[in-house]
Amino acid sequence: GKGDVQADVVVLGSGPGGYTAAFRAADLGKSVVLIEKYATLGGVCLNVGCIPSKALLHAAKVITEAEEMGDHGITFAKPQIDLDELRDWKDSVVGQLTGGLKGLAKQRKVTVVQGWGKFTGPNMIEVAGAEGTQTVSFDQCIIAAGSSSVKLPFVPHDDPRVIDSTGALELSDIPGRMLVLGGGIIGLEMACVYDALGAKVTVVELMDQIIPGADKDIVKPLSQRISKRYENILLKTKVTKVEAQDDGLKVTFEDADGKETTDTFDKLLVAVGRSPNGKLIDAEKAGVKVDDRGFIAVDHQQRTGQDHIFAIGDVVGQPMLAHKAVHEGKVAAEVASGEKRAFDALVIPSVAYTDPEVAWVGLTETQAKAQGIDYRKGVFPWAASGRALSNGRSDGMTKILFDPEDDRVIGGAIVGTNAGELIAEVALAIEMGADAVDLGHTIHPHPTLSETVNFAAEMFEGTITDLM
Ligand code: FAD
Repeated sequence: GKGDVQADVVVLGSGPGGYTAAFRAADLGKSVVLIEKYATLGGVCLNVGCIPSKALLHAAKVITEAEEMGDHGITFAKPQIDLDELRDWKDSVVGQLTGGLKGLAKQRKVTVVQGWGKFTGPNMIEVAGAEGTQTVSFDQCIIAAGSSSVKLPFVPHDDPRVIDSTGALELSDIPGRMLVLGGGIIGLEMACVYDALGAKVTVVELMDQIIPGADKDIVKPLSQRISKRYENILLKTKVTKVEAQDDGLKVTFEDADGKETTDTFDKLLVAVGRSPNGKLIDAEKAGVKVDDRGFIAVDHQQRTGQDHIFAIGDVVGQPMLAHKAVHEGKVAAEVASGEKRAFDALVIPSVAYTDPEVAWVGLTETQAKAQGIDYRKGVFPWAASGRALSNGRSDGMTKILFDPEDDRVIGGAIVGTNAGELIAEVALAIEMGADAVDLGHTIHPHPTLSETVNFAAEMFEGTITDLM
């Protein structure tokens, strides 16, 4: 049947995956409806994720760099932090981007329907909005429902002192003592912000290292720096209980030997991961399978088991990253529009925008060892980089993994200032099938941090021997 609104393609969710898919499908001539619960487009990434966190991390960086110039002859006054103004600035950055998206949607005649959408059949979605319910019928659908913060059963999430990343980005106050539960990317980025703003931060992580996806040697410069700055980094430690008390949140920790301790914090940031929103959209009414955790499985063309329904972004699986969602969004929209396209990217870079930044792409050494994959590596320590030293930040390292058969680049990891920008060259090298000579013979500008990629390749080749 026909809905109140009809579309060739309906996109469910307007995060980086969703708006990319909607715009691409419209550019390819489809009539497109984009369904979004919130008043602004952009999803988690623009509203409460990638973008606001980077604005606050920029502020953190300015503060800590100013502090550290104290050791080099320039002393600034202690920063005066006006949280309201900082928050306004962060919100205005977000506003510029979400406003821009609104304009782009209009330009392309993408109809935005506001409200929560659920399937009522294989070609119909019902959207419950502020002004009632509308039905949207479609020929094809792209599910881009994203993910939400994981909540823990033993944590009083209703207590205002317990926050998730969204709460942390709201910047309601700077707590005295803050516990960050989870030493992954999101937790550590927020820890970095609150530390710079003056909170005493403790990070607790179940595994034996922070950022468990990255190699230990790559994480070490970050661990060393935050061990000095933060109150405590607790590894191999479980939080087993959180009690809301008048004087704070009483937290029970259990270490690897099963020994229990307690401590009290003013604020608790829970950053233990994100879970997909697949179970919230009645996908089964459209015949789309959702697994127990809420993920929707797709093939290399982003198709679900239903040929006319695609899924992209966080809801289809790891890594839950915006650039992956964007890429998948393009693939889905192009396939839906009849183009020959498939997800054939070799690698997806990961970045923690902490200070220093931690970035990796392709194979890690940990993975290579676990999977018995042969590799050789070139490593360049930033203590030997003129630019890193001039920046006052030689705490970094560039590591590139090569296939021993043909010297092609198969992985890379960088820790240090701007590692997130630098890792893109390694991603390109992998996608292009570049080898050590390609990287080593490409003239890089001097003095830059990008030279460390060139030097790591030369270390592997054996050109730079005095550093070995
Ligand atoms: P999402 O961005 O999750 O958006 C889904 C949207 O769909 C939401 O707006 C939701 O309201 C809407 N929606 C869902 N279901 C429905 C429905 N049924 N009806 C109506 N609307 C619906 N990634 C990076 O790559 N780099 C970073 O620096 C980075 N930083 C992050 C920092 C934080 C604090 C967080 C939380 C995440 C960060 N991420 C980062 C991850 C990134 O935000 C996600 O990978 C990305 O947003 C996923 O995009 P998506 O399109 O799958 O969906």
